[in-house]
Amino acid sequence: MVVPYKHEPFTDFTLEENREKMEAALKQIEADFGKEYPLIIGGERIITEDKIKVVNPANKDEVLGFVSKSNKKLADQAMEVADETFKTWRKSDPNFRAGILFRAAAIIRRRKFEFTAHLVKEGGKPWKEADADTAEAIDFLEYYGRQMLKIKNGAKVNSRPIEHNQFHYIPLGVGLVISPWNFLFAIMAGTTTAAMVTGNTVLLKPASATPIIAYKLMEVLEEAGMPKGVVNYIPGPGSEVGDHLVEHPRTRFVSFTGSREVGTRIFERAAVVQKGQIWLKRTIIEMGGKDTIVVDNEADLELAAESIVQSAFGFSGQKCSACSRAVIHEDVYEQVKDRVIELTNELTHGDPSDNRHFMGPVIDQAAYDKIMGYIEIGKEEGKLVAGGEGDDSKGWFIKPTVFADVGPKARIMQEEIFGPVVALTKAKDFDEAIEIANNTEYGLTGAVITNNREHLEQAREDFHVGNLYFNRGCTAAIVGYQPFGGFNMSGTDSKAGGPDYLIQHMQGKTTSEML
Ligand code: NAP
Repeated sequence: MVVPYKHEPFTDFTLEENREKMEAALKQIEADFGKEYPLIIGGERIITEDKIKVVNPANKDEVLGFVSKSNKKLADQAMEVADETFKTWRKSDPNFRAGILFRAAAIIRRRKFEFTAHLVKEGGKPWKEADADTAEAIDFLEYYGRQMLKIKNGAKVNSRPIEHNQFHYIPLGVGLVISPWNFLFAIMAGTTTAAMVTGNTVLLKPASATPIIAYKLMEVLEEAGMPKGVVNYIPGPGSEVGDHLVEHPRTRFVSFTGSREVGTRIFERAAVVQKGQIWLKRTIIEMGGKDTIVVDNEADLELAAESIVQSAFGFSGQKCSACSRAVIHEDVYEQVKDRVIELTNELTHGDPSDNRHFMGPVIDQAAYDKIMGYIEIGKEEGKLVAGGEGDDSKGWFIKPTVFADVGPKARIMQEEIFGPVVALTKAKDFDEAIEIANNTEYGLTGAVITNNREHLEQAREDFHVGNLYFNRGCTAAIVGYQPFGGFNMSGTDSKAGGPDYLIQHMQGKTTSEML
């Protein structure tokens, strides 16, 4: 018997004791800086000559490690191992598989500060955000372990007196898991272990900006009793290893989280039936967002401004759920705008190793250049009212930036920027606000701030996003509480951390025996 699922509490950094533990962890992990990390294929450590250099985005000179890089040949080797291991792993006891996840969660919980400190350095996350990432990783393990126990005997079907019918779920085969850098721990761990606990074997290709945390997860899973070859760790360039494995005829499914551009590419390539391929590949694809907070005229305006600022600038706006547009009723537009500017100007930003900073850097030079490019576009499309400056001399820092009076069809209102930039626009009434909120090709998260019950009900039906929040910000979904995933070009709405997630990694089998 396992205790009922409850999400992992966040660490209270207002307590001196916790601050001291975190400072100590940040010191302790320095001993690992510059280390080499091998690939792991079939449990074997493989060092390659070609390496990924991993740096702290807040301080480019701080090299966190050198990670071996897989290529097509090593990817094929990993595929062979995963394919072979599947023959036995698919028959493994679901209780045993769930047990690995529960033990892994316990190991991470014991070393929570150490993992969180690592995320501060590898992901450039402020303490609070890094702690939430670690907590979410633990949540995924605890939740998916329990979900596996729930579905292990399949679902009830009817039988007749002459026959005995059964319906249960079996694994698919080798899954390719491709993860992003933003929730470098939680999403990577969640997508990997969902695939593995359901009896599939896995090829794990983490984002090239953040591959070390994935190596650390491998160590945890091994310590928790995962047999060799079940998850194989093959970091490497998405364009080479990713493309190659998406197209591999032995890949049975792809679980991807990342940008719309790469997601749609994977979707198209996975659809092509390759020579020797005997199935249609399944794809679980979660992509970007252009998430909106709608502010009505009958609303708590302080809550509205706080929700916009927190959702736009938490982790430098690098969340798929981040608020990148606010649509505000014209009656209260000026008030909300002024308060958003005030709150934004109060935010501190700098090296996230220092807990005084609300915001840290963006992830790398490419992100920095892209976001600064959008800031230039924003200057043409709206009025820059806060921020707008960047500094990439030491790390990749961009000030929290607000554009006001932006038209609903402007590029900064339509395209995912994935940085600390929010656009404000005016609506003449609530109907128009919802219309604008729905006017992108995405449909991930959204929020409505209003005290008008009718408008809440209207939004419940008409605001077309996978995760809709009322009278709060649009980020911070919790595993098991707010299953997460989006509509339209935000992805396949797989709802990570929800009750339907695991069976997408399985197929139903009906057995009917005559009596
Ligand atoms: P990305 O550039 O699409 O990369 C995601 C992963 O795909 C990385 O591991 C990347 O490897 C790999 N990749 C790149 N090209 C590939 C290819 N041709 N074939 C196969 N794999 C390939 O996204 P990102 O910048 O890491 O993450 C940010 C994006 O993720 C944003 O759009 C954000 O909204 C989205 N996101 C969505 C969710 C959600 O739940 N909907 C959650 C988090 C993030 P390399 O690193 O080696 O290029």
